[in-house]
Amino acid sequence: MSDDIFSESTKRLKKVVPLMMKHHVATTPMNYALWYSYVGNDDEQLTSELDELLKNYPIFPPVQAQTLYRRFVADEIESGTWKMRESVEAMLLELGQSIKDTSSDASKFQNTIDKTFSNLHRVEDEGWSIEEVMSLIRELDGDSKAIRNATQFFSNSLDKAKEEIESLKSQLHKSQKIALYDSLTGLLNRHSFDTELSTLLKTDNKGLCLILADIDHFKKFNDEYGHLLGDQVLKAVGRRLLDATRDGAMAFRFGGEEFAILIPNSGLRQARQYAETLRKLVDKLTLRDKRTTKLIDHISASFGVSEFTPGDNLTSFIARADDLLYKAKAQGRNRVMPI
Ligand code: GH3
Ligand code: MG
Ligand code: MG
Repeated sequence: MSDDIFSESTKRLKKVVPLMMKHHVATTPMNYALWYSYVGNDDEQLTSELDELLKNYPIFPPVQAQTLYRRFVADEIESGTWKMRESVEAMLLELGQSIKDTSSDASKFQNTIDKTFSNLHRVEDEGWSIEEVMSLIRELDGDSKAIRNATQFFSNSLDKAKEEIESLKSQLHKSQKIALYDSLTGLLNRHSFDTELSTLLKTDNKGLCLILADIDHFKKFNDEYGHLLGDQVLKAVGRRLLDATRDGAMAFRFGGEEFAILIPNSGLRQARQYAETLRKLVDKLTLRDKRTTKLIDHISASFGVSEFTPGDNLTSFIARADDLLYKAKAQGRNRVMPI
């Protein structure tokens, strides 16, 4: 290691560790790499996004740390996905080749059998010698061994493929479990919500608010316009919510057509106003139905807002927002509760 790198890394180390301690960041390799980049100001965007989070969270939110790491320091998921794809491709290629080999061997064998059967008639008709008959049988025996080998090889390949598929399945399962984002909307997923909220609740969470949003009459929308256009609506709503996040707020896809926004250092009044802004944004959303070219402009959502108060726990905090969301639905939808 050159002296320059050594002195630079020592300098960063002296800053990184106390900072990580201060913000209760676990000193995992991933976090260390992230904070190492941060104190070195390697990327302005990273610096400003991390500063924003530090300003708003007493404990650095772990999912956000992973997100920043993936965006600015490494791309683990992508490389994992590529590896998986490569091994599936290799496996299919191999399997395809042995199917081809087996079927070409099999069709050769079929030809031999056909030929042999016609020869068998000649044995009777032409009175073949025993040597001639024996050589015919030997030929048949040789071919049948070849086909047995090929079949054996093919069945081995199949067994190997089966094993490979099992291992890929479990890899996929694992990577889905560690996935942070919802694949349709690109928002943080429910798993991220649970992680982030339980971390937030370990700190002084004064002013922490939750907005739950649920798209109105979405079942009817799907029935009328189809699931694909329904998906487009979810994407568009998700985009609006994400674009509107500020002051450390985080947007998640909470469930099917439900979204959650966590807002630190806020308060019920402020969060309610924020929800009102989001409601208007969704209400203004328009989409074109490509099949009929009709403009769809009646998309709306209902909102429930809760503030974390002493005596609350994770469940009661969510349940209060959910109850209020239900009230917003009951009172005619496209509204925010409490008033
Ligand atoms: P409400 O105004 O009371 O919320 O009525 P709703 O129809 O929106 O509520 P309900 O819970 O009856 O139906 C939710 C619908 O959301 C049903 C389901 O098909 C749809 N949905 C959930 N996830 C997805 C998705 O990923 N894509 C699409 N297109 N639809 C989804
Ligand atoms: Mg719902
Ligand atoms: Mg709904």
